[in-house]
Amino acid sequence: MKPSSFEYVAPRSLDEAVDSLSRYGGAAKVLAGGQSLVPLMNLRLASPEVLVDINGLDELGRLQAWDGGLSVGALVRQSVLGGADLVRQRLPLLAEASALIGHPAIRHRGTVGGSLAHADPAAELPAAMLALEATFLARGPRGERSVPAAEFFSGYLTTTLEPDELLTEIHVPGVPPRTGNAFVEVARRSGDFAICGAAALVTLNASGRCDRVRIALCGVGTGPVRARRVEEALVGEVPGGSGLVDAAQRVVDEIDPPSDIHGSAAYRRKLAAVVVRRAVELAAQRAGA
Ligand SMILES: Cc1cc2nc3c(=O)[nH]c(=O)nc-3n(C[C@H](O)[C@H](O)[C@H](O)COP(=O)(O)OP(=O)(O)OC[C@H]3O[C@@H](n4cnc5c(N)ncnc54)[C@H](O)[C@@H]3O)c2cc1C
Repeated sequence: MKPSSFEYVAPRSLDEAVDSLSRYGGAAKVLAGGQSLVPLMNLRLASPEVLVDINGLDELGRLQAWDGGLSVGALVRQSVLGGADLVRQRLPLLAEASALIGHPAIRHRGTVGGSLAHADPAAELPAAMLALEATFLARGPRGERSVPAAEFFSGYLTTTLEPDELLTEIHVPGVPPRTGNAFVEVARRSGDFAICGAAALVTLNASGRCDRVRIALCGVGTGPVRARRVEEALVGEVPGGSGLVDAAQRVVDEIDPPSDIHGSAAYRRKLAAVVVRRAVELAAQRAGA
């Protein structure tokens, strides 16, 4: 299958990229790893008139320590995020989430920024970034602005980025001491998009009870969903046993999952409580419970 014809521009600087996007307005699309955009173009579900290829912008490919956490350039490949020692040491949740994306060939081309800007509700990185309370930096003709993850995802395959804005960098804060994390998902086959998945971060206090809990899910709504009621129910609790089962069950009131060929809404609700429980259990174990 072939895409509709399009113009191709390869800017040599961030300013040039922003200029191109603002010149062509909604007719242009950013090309990053191409792992979502190119299949959509080949199926003629997307027909941009212009592709603005950002692969030559080295400044968007930096992955570095930032304020106890990480600064991740939008062009950092998913395979790099999954394999870098710096990520495993500081924010292993991001490494674990990245390793669950598709297959190695997809992760070698696919970028962190592309996954976040594409905003597939079943994608792992949006849920992980929401749980980690990351901040997204966007650059457009009006300058730079920062958007908290909770305000970035606005609906099915939709974000609050304007058509002439580029996602440039993601600031992910560090986590407190005695924090464990886990990303648990259920997919039909290894490498498939998740039917439902959960990212969890659990911080334990000196007596082994939950001090701070962050949970976000994929596959259960029009975007990633934070499970705040489960988080609140777990604070002060020992992260196991029937207390955890009851707390995890609260997730069913926080989600409005879709029904599709992979599973009904009712099935996804049941699955959501299971993946939340498993993710919290594993995160707590890793925190030293
Ligand atoms: C077979 C297959 C299986 C997959 N399985 C999974 C999976 O299990 N989990 C998962 O999460 N993903 C999966 N994916 C998708 C993959 O992760 C993509 O890499 C990702 O969705 C998009 O990243 P990209 O860099 O390829 O972006 P592109 O395809 O280049 O772009 C995607 C969209 O984001 C926009 N965009 C990209 N970068 C920017 C930017 N910096 N600023 C503004 N807009 C931008 C583009 O204009 C486009 O609209 C799969 C893909 C395939 C083909």
